[in-house]
Amino acid sequence: MMIKIKCPKCNSEGSFSLANSSYNGPYKCWKCRELFTIKIENNELKSFEPLSQEEFDRQQEVEALKARFKQH
Ligand SMILES: [Zn+2]
Repeated sequence: MMIKIKCPKCNSEGSFSLANSSYNGPYKCWKCRELFTIKIENNELKSFEPLSQEEFDRQQEVEALKARFKQH
């Protein structure tokens, strides 16, 4: 499932692929490279929060770990 996400900073629309109908995690704008934490519920974007590079890296690690656990 792909949904469109409009960057609140530069207004560029990017597509984001979802495994589920909800998601709460990091998003990076392809154009201005701004980082956000986004929250999606029922395939609808609910919130955008600014995210620091440090926090983004940390969240990516968490996501990678989760993905690894799913394989077992
Ligand atoms: Zn942007």
